[in-house]
Amino acid sequence: MKTKIDILSTKNLMVLLLSLSIVITSCNDDNTSDVECFDDFNYDDTTDEGPASWFNYCTDDGTINECGSTTRQSPIDISGVVNDPTLQSLSTLYANSITEIINNGHTLQFNYNGTGTVNFQGSDYSLQQFHFHANSEHTIEGSHKPLEVHLVHKNDSGHLMVLGIFFEIGAESTFLAQFIDNLPEEINETYLDFDLSYNASGLLPANLSYYHYKGSLTTPPCSEIVEWVVMKNALEMSQTQMDQFSGILHHNFRPVQPLAGRVIGAYDVN
Ligand SMILES: [Zn+2]
Repeated sequence: MKTKIDILSTKNLMVLLLSLSIVITSCNDDNTSDVECFDDFNYDDTTDEGPASWFNYCTDDGTINECGSTTRQSPIDISGVVNDPTLQSLSTLYANSITEIINNGHTLQFNYNGTGTVNFQGSDYSLQQFHFHANSEHTIEGSHKPLEVHLVHKNDSGHLMVLGIFFEIGAESTFLAQFIDNLPEEINETYLDFDLSYNASGLLPANLSYYHYKGSLTTPPCSEIVEWVVMKNALEMSQTQMDQFSGILHHNFRPVQPLAGRVIGAYDVN
């Protein structure tokens, strides 16, 4: 509730400042643009809250907005990959979680209430939540996949490692089938089921070959703090399942960002 009040008062302040600025601008005939703060962001660049305007998005907790950076942003197009002999196999260990799904207006997010650990390059990262993007955010040789899930992990130092996994149209996903009839369709709606226990390992392809690069969050404030691990092998879902997800997600993918000289490494499971 406190956050909501703060946001409202910030908005009111901005309306006041904007009004004052319009008066000043009309007096001075000054073209100085105003800094805009958005209470919310979206994926529609025909509006002022779309990805092309995210660099203007203000955070209210002092976090630096890095959406305008051109050095280490995500997602990217995955092409020109090189084998990286320093990359190691992923070691995963997930315990079961109860089901908690929230529609936060940007994605469908599954909060993970079980313990889940992935060891990546000698560091243990624990699973916080996973969520979905339709179409995929990362592209392969310029092409989107229909759906991409992001499993967000954090280590004790606060660094993030996100596992990205693509879905393609094919056989029905037994993992998604557990939840498909209870996906919260309304913004701020939550589905909570203590009796529906599942394991996040059901989201991993059998073969854990992957791509790796250093990037960012794909939503404001686009912080450049993410080790990205994108699975080479996609999972399958039925067209009906895809339609149910896309009917809620509404094209929630950020356009690909400049590679800016970064190397995309590859690790292959033999
Ligand atoms: Zn994501």
